[in-house]
Amino acid sequence: MTVRVRFAPSPTGSLHIGSVRTTLYNYFFARQNGGKLILRIEDTDQDRLVAGAIDSIYDGLAWLGMKWDEGPREGGPHAPYIQSERLPLYQKHAQQLVDVGGAYFCFCSKERLAALRAQQAARKEITRYDGLCRRIDPKEAADRAKTESHVVRQKVPDDGIIALDDLVYGHVEWPLSALEDQVLLKSDGFPTYHLAVVVDDHVMGITHVLRGEDWLPSTPKHLLIWRAFGWTIPPHAHVPNVLGPDGKKLSKRHGATKVEEFRAQGYLPAAMVNYLALIGWASGTEEEVFSLDELIQRWRIDHVHRAGGKWDRARLDWFNGVYIRKLTPDGLLTELEPFLPPEWDRAVVRKAIPLIQERMRTLVEGRDMIAFLFSDQVPLDRSVLVGKKHQPEEIERALSQSAVVLRYLDPFTSSGIEHGLRGIADDLDWKVKDATEPIRVAVTGKTEGPPLWESLELLGKEKTLARIERAEELLNGGGPS
Ligand code: GLU
Repeated sequence: MTVRVRFAPSPTGSLHIGSVRTTLYNYFFARQNGGKLILRIEDTDQDRLVAGAIDSIYDGLAWLGMKWDEGPREGGPHAPYIQSERLPLYQKHAQQLVDVGGAYFCFCSKERLAALRAQQAARKEITRYDGLCRRIDPKEAADRAKTESHVVRQKVPDDGIIALDDLVYGHVEWPLSALEDQVLLKSDGFPTYHLAVVVDDHVMGITHVLRGEDWLPSTPKHLLIWRAFGWTIPPHAHVPNVLGPDGKKLSKRHGATKVEEFRAQGYLPAAMVNYLALIGWASGTEEEVFSLDELIQRWRIDHVHRAGGKWDRARLDWFNGVYIRKLTPDGLLTELEPFLPPEWDRAVVRKAIPLIQERMRTLVEGRDMIAFLFSDQVPLDRSVLVGKKHQPEEIERALSQSAVVLRYLDPFTSSGIEHGLRGIADDLDWKVKDATEPIRVAVTGKTEGPPLWESLELLGKEKTLARIERAEELLNGGGPS
């Protein structure tokens, strides 16, 4: 048997990292079993479509380095792979389901359904369809269906239980009495998700259904459909959600959730893949840094845990730093390129890379760390410049003494700069950091950043002195604080 798995996003927005995690698991499973991966677009809910969502899915997954075998743009033996282009297939199957007694035509008007819901709500009952049309004689219903607007509803047996041995959740049972006679085919001829997903998983020969745990509550409906058709039910695995720090499903409320946002913030695809793979799965060893190929080797469906994995930005940052440090300096320059303003001299950026590679967490952060090399407009805040330990006059004096030493330094090299500025700290009897921090702030606008001596060498003597003078003026003109 050739393994065939699918990922089936609904094009309702930009690609969400929760779907990426589930997609990754399908990808690992397909690749480690020599199987096929299918991309299917589930767009049966036409009210929720968002323009550009399919592009976002393609762009995001391509950026992450994933490839699949069949899909809307790749084609394949089961084309088309977009559900809205497969309507006759679902209509035919809805009819078959009626014929075998797994579904029935329902002619209830919107008004009747609304009134029914209102009455049930008033009685504090669960609001659900009351099965009125179930009682229509099937022959009469078939005749009426030729001319009257109708939906097709699932005929849920009155009692009994239905069960699944889920690859992640284990044995799960549902009492059938809890299920509503769900709409499977709408009056406009569109299927609902429940019908379309089962029909497609069957006709596309899907051998394992791996999807998010959100779909577990829908699974009994699907099982009934599989059963009514007499089809073999493939193994299912419901993988845990990616959760926000508050334990609720990760959503916009928690910050960035879209692949394109992380890309724009300067995360590397390999770091995203590594980090996401570990939300819901652990290798069982101390190791945690894995390439895509290693994940394909190591990941195991039976090591996926049930508890949702919490999103942890600091951990993602840590992984990103690991992958940034794995790059060669030229490789990092290539990754930085999309983030750099065109006017920045790439030769200077290249020289600055050894100063930032060890300490940057994202490409954007690395870019920002070296921005001072390319613009004289560094923001200068008097209170940051003065700091907490010394008086403004003392800082001003330290700056002017440093300027004198730096002015006569020739050549202007990091070792000379270091020697000179350590000497100033000695003279002042200050800690080196206290003596150099005002210089760092004067030159970069910030109290933290790349190593100072090398940064000043790269910036050059003239610009360094001009910025120190500007800082002195700010202290002069500002009076005592
Ligand atoms: N279309 C569903 C979604 O976007 C996927 C359902 C499934 O994988 O069965 O979440």
